[in-house]
Amino acid sequence: MTALDVRSARPDQLVSGDKGKWEIIVGLEVHAQVTSQAKLFSGASAAYGGDPNAHVSLVDAAMPGMLPVINKFCVEQAVRTGLGLNAKINTKSRFDRKNYFYPDLPQGYQISQFKDPIVGEGEIEIEPDGDDPVTIRIERLHLEQDAGKSIHDLSPSETFVDLNRAGVALMEIVSRPDMRSSKEAAAYFNKLRAIVRALGTCDGNMEEGSMRADVNVSVRRPGEEFGTRCEIKNVNSTRFMQQAIEYEARRQIEIIEGGGKIDQETRLFDPDKGETRTMRSKEDAHDYRYFPDPDLLPLVIEQAWIDQIKASLPELPDAKKKRFVSEYGLTAYDAGVLAGDSEASAYFETVAKGRDGKLAANWVTQELFGALNKGGLELSASPVKAEALGALLDLMKDGTINGKIAKDVFAKMLETGDAPGAIVEREGLKQVTDTGAIEKAIDELMAANADKVADVQKNPKAFGWWVGQTMKATGGKANPAVVNDILKKKLGV
Ligand code: MN
Repeated sequence: MTALDVRSARPDQLVSGDKGKWEIIVGLEVHAQVTSQAKLFSGASAAYGGDPNAHVSLVDAAMPGMLPVINKFCVEQAVRTGLGLNAKINTKSRFDRKNYFYPDLPQGYQISQFKDPIVGEGEIEIEPDGDDPVTIRIERLHLEQDAGKSIHDLSPSETFVDLNRAGVALMEIVSRPDMRSSKEAAAYFNKLRAIVRALGTCDGNMEEGSMRADVNVSVRRPGEEFGTRCEIKNVNSTRFMQQAIEYEARRQIEIIEGGGKIDQETRLFDPDKGETRTMRSKEDAHDYRYFPDPDLLPLVIEQAWIDQIKASLPELPDAKKKRFVSEYGLTAYDAGVLAGDSEASAYFETVAKGRDGKLAANWVTQELFGALNKGGLELSASPVKAEALGALLDLMKDGTINGKIAKDVFAKMLETGDAPGAIVEREGLKQVTDTGAIEKAIDELMAANADKVADVQKNPKAFGWWVGQTMKATGGKANPAVVNDILKKKLGV
């Protein structure tokens, strides 16, 4: 690939070295664990956790004579993901052996797809915060097995091997080197995560390692050929990804400006130190001696099956975002936040159904997300369920409570998990629309503040004081519109 067939960075994305400007080039290889009960070539459980070596079949342990059998559901998941990435599905693909030795890989090779992956070229659109959308091309998606896990920290002198993960299906999604900043790389990863979660093909759980990225970083002077890249292995959060890219680009720029050369190598990011360090010199494909796995036939799938899967795809984040803008009148930003996560969008739609969509979005993105962030809670653990938040909006709409009291009620809902109606009842928070009670409060205020009555008649700005005092006198429960009307009449303003 030459520099010409890829986009150039925007001027504001260039990084300054001591001797001029540099462009950062990023490509991602994302490993996404396929959501499936069983492994890619065996019936053993693919569940996370479990006692060490409890989810290991004879195939996963590579016992002599065992034969792999393809899991059709994993193939379906890969096809579904490919369709979600607007990619070409290859009706004929093939599994290859990628040979290397590691104690947690008893076969001595990983079954992967090298020459003929199941999914070919695709593309997705990303919208980095505040920037115009950018299209990121996808080179391929292939299916492969995960390896087991070596555990080095249980004993000073021994390494333990847990094969529970060995043979679990992974989708490796390879992008083109189309990203030009750490921000774009994070936006791409997040978009990918939103898509696979919406599709139900990967749970996107980064703590459990369900999604991790190998990040390829290089630098070049604007308009020149790509430089030598380094690959940062197994980055499992977008925050670390951004730190790693920024550190790595800076490191490369310093080497090149100092007259040095970049060695193509595989590096690790150390989150404690915030830096990348050498892991091993980069191997090339030929080092793995790939060859077609003789235990597996070529994978041939029918177009009719692909069409059937396509017809069953759920609404994806981009389409959902557009619909939220047109159907509920949300801003593009709010729509993006809500549509980007299937749980958030389902929550929002439950609240918004039959109600004011914009108001619902405000409450979800501001009050609710704000409170959950503060408490370090996931949406699924929210003490306030969507139906309850909807009921709170209903209480405002029918005039039972005003907006200010609603915030107090919401705080109590978060605290207790109680229904809003019960809280309003229990705490006597019903809005006072009874004009008699409001008039009485105003009369008392006027009698006690004759000077201020004279003042407000000359100075309209003093009106706010009267509203505030009346609300205070009614415990914040008065209907603000009614208060305004009566005040204006009585004060003659
Ligand atoms: Mn891989």
